[in-house]
Amino acid sequence: MHVSVVLFTSDLRLHDHPPLRAALDSADAVVPLFVRDRAVAAAGFATPNRSAFLADCLADLDAALRERGGRLVVRSGDLVEQVCRTAAEADADEVHMAAAHSRFATRREERLRTALEADGRRLFVHESVTVAVPPGEVTPASSDHFAVFTPYHRQWTRVRLRGVVAAPRRVPVPDHVQGEPLPGRGQVTGVSPALPPGGEREGRKRVTAYWRRGLDAYADTHDDLAGDATSRLSAHLHFGTLSPVELVHRARRRGGPGAAAFERQLAWRDFHRQVLAARPEAAHADYRTKRDRWRTERTACADIEAWREGRTGYPVIDAAMRQLRHEGWMHNRARLLTASFLTKTLYVDWRIGAAHFLHWLVDGDVANNQLNWQWTAGTGTDTRPNRVLNPVVQARRYDPEGAYVRRWVPELEGLDRRSVHEPWKLPDADRAALDYPDPVVDLSAGLDRFRQARDRQR
Ligand code: FAD
Repeated sequence: MHVSVVLFTSDLRLHDHPPLRAALDSADAVVPLFVRDRAVAAAGFATPNRSAFLADCLADLDAALRERGGRLVVRSGDLVEQVCRTAAEADADEVHMAAAHSRFATRREERLRTALEADGRRLFVHESVTVAVPPGEVTPASSDHFAVFTPYHRQWTRVRLRGVVAAPRRVPVPDHVQGEPLPGRGQVTGVSPALPPGGEREGRKRVTAYWRRGLDAYADTHDDLAGDATSRLSAHLHFGTLSPVELVHRARRRGGPGAAAFERQLAWRDFHRQVLAARPEAAHADYRTKRDRWRTERTACADIEAWREGRTGYPVIDAAMRQLRHEGWMHNRARLLTASFLTKTLYVDWRIGAAHFLHWLVDGDVANNQLNWQWTAGTGTDTRPNRVLNPVVQARRYDPEGAYVRRWVPELEGLDRRSVHEPWKLPDADRAALDYPDPVVDLSAGLDRFRQARDRQR
């Protein structure tokens, strides 16, 4: 009997899964394998929210495989060792997996290829599984990657995407290859109380619901903080319980401004991946340095703590930071505001904010997180690197009634739509009655500090 191993990584689904399809086409049986890679945990990526979501995804994948006559084999340890061991036990001569593009993933893939080849086995890596358009597929004439989104997007839309691959009806798995018990969400501590459930079924349900009720209005509503009208598909895209290729096809079939705006956001996801694939150091170092002498834990400890805790005295910032802890997710407009506030108004190193986000975000993702932080800090791909978002002006625009703030900052529940965004303007007695801090910084003083810092570096 001819057996192949299918290694699942950031592609925890059965629909539109080219590695699984290829393995099933060329073998009589497959071993669907997930390795809890100890290097991922050692690097700090296995945070409580993502571990809990992952446990749901693995349980769902296992259930979907069992419905098709198979099951998921889970193992822990060094990924390369575990894949080689599984392939040997299954007597498999092929391993199929999805391409990934971070430095960590590409190094791991190379190690795996070398180890498998030493055992006389072959590794097949499939593109367009975790992204719609892989890094390097579109490039400008003079560089290995696009540094500006708009021209990238223009070319991205012209790429002919592969067709969507149907979920298999049957997945035969050899009986003798056994794994460990699946990890349970209940075993993880420190999880956000309102963390959403993971898994492909959950992701597909969410897409169906969003296509019915949200997508057509996306172009108009995606910045509405209180309306909460974005898709909330980011964690599913991160874990690959949804396929970006399938989502782009579905958005194109739907058509209209809402679907086009949504598709554009998926292009942002690919854009950041192609930047990181070409410049892996951008995960930690400025992509375009402004030679900032940032404030750090040592020089701005109290401000950083107030930001993390949602006690800065700026209601929209505090609402967002509390949403992050409670849900493991934050609205994109709120991510922009809180990141601009930390890096520009407080002039704190973007890496400190990025690390805090990576800890809490269930969609926390090195390419999207670090490069969006750099975009906001003005050290990345923003063509207006010195723009500063004013949290009061932005709150009035994107939360005009104050509903978002009142939802997350109950101390301000009774305030009207004007004072809810500027409680420091209340008469002293009213202000004293609120259990809410004064602003950690005066906005114009923060702006002056930032401008001087950037002017110094010109
Ligand atoms: P929707 O608005 O419904 O968008 C659909 C999908 O498009 C998202 O699920 C996401 O996959 C993609 N997308 C949307 N906006 C962006 C963007 N700006 N860049 C890249 N992809 C995008 N996104 C992450 O997935 N992981 C992160 O770690 C992350 N960190 C961020 C940090 C900062 C400072 C900022 C400003 C943005 C960050 N984003 C990150 C991007 C964006 O905020 C989230 O993808 C989005 O809020 C997720 O919600 P949604 O699924 O409802 O998005």
